Amino acid sequence: MSGFVIARIHGIAVRLNWGVLLIAAAIAWTLAENVLPSAASGGGEIEHWVWAILTTLLFFAGLVAHEFGHSLVAQHEGVKVSNITLWIFGGVASLESPVPSAASAFRIAIAGPAVSLGLGVGFVATGVLVEGVPRSALLWLGLMNVALAVFNLIPAFPLDGGRVYQSYLWHRTGSEVQATIAAARLGKILGGSLALLGLFEVLALGASAGLWFIVLGWFIREAAGAEVDYVRRARPLADVTVRQIMTANPLTVHGHASLTEFTELLLTGPRHATYPVVDDNGHLVGSVSVADLHRVEQKLWDTTWVSSIAKDNQTLIVVSPDSTVLELLQRFDRKGDHRAVATVDGIPVGIIAPSDAMRFVSVLDATTPRTGSA
Ligand SMILES: [Zn+2]
Repeated sequence: MSGFVIARIHGIAVRLNWGVLLIAAAIAWTLAENVLPSAASGGGEIEHWVWAILTTLLFFAGLVAHEFGHSLVAQHEGVKVSNITLWIFGGVASLESPVPSAASAFRIAIAGPAVSLGLGVGFVATGVLVEGVPRSALLWLGLMNVALAVFNLIPAFPLDGGRVYQSYLWHRTGSEVQATIAAARLGKILGGSLALLGLFEVLALGASAGLWFIVLGWFIREAAGAEVDYVRRARPLADVTVRQIMTANPLTVHGHASLTEFTELLLTGPRHATYPVVDDNGHLVGSVSVADLHRVEQKLWDTTWVSSIAKDNQTLIVVSPDSTVLELLQRFDRKGDHRAVATVDGIPVGIIAPSDAMRFVSVLDATTPRTGSA
């Protein structure tokens, strides 16, 4: 989507699509010429236009706040958010990394409508306290924000309500992929129904608002369809588990071994890119590679512990051997070095070399970043 960045908040770029300026002008005009004058709130043309512009800005600020609701909760759940884009159907928050759990997905999805509902109630509460044109403007803002919350809760994936439904299915079935397919299917049906309803409105009643429903319904249908295609394409990966591609029973190194002992292990044992580092109980505490070894002068190898050069678990991808390769790949940072260890109850049972996983990456390259909804 083409556009420009208007602000950068909390590491998130707020982008504006050009089409938004057109919509904003239309909203301001409607407010100034129709909504505010006909609300019997008095005021002259200049007052109407001043409040129309202010109200339009607050309306878009409300859309941004809605997306920040999603984004800040997402960041709190450990999901990377790169930008928020405002476009003709509202806003989209681009989530750049996978959502860790069904509960997280639910909290991220519900946060946007919660913000809109809160804003709506706030605007109405403020509106009833004032008189005249400001009252009409604030009540309109209140109504629009409540409507935004309600509309987004329609369970048509990829709207927020569809994402709430997806998180419920994910929670119930334990499979994000299946949940996404089922939710997207419903989204396609609801999007199609919305478009047909709009068509009926236009044909039978001649109502121009029907056109909006046709476009929006079609958009939802297309977006849901794209999501189904994506998970279908990724589906074969979803059936392959980490256990099937990992090197089982990897050689492990004790954190209190010296680097000399580590090199002896390297000479005698199988060669891996990464060796899991364990504590006295055999629990994974980090990983070490040959490259890490070369950062220490050789004469110090006798007196340096492996634990002092090892990377801790934070920089390591730790997975269950029963998780899918798809889930693993979503966690790989394709720019950094790849270290993945499969554990059961904290004990390493396998390692996954980049080459094992990279065979699957080509499929993933065809995918786009997952996005939040309007
Ligand atoms: Zn939303």
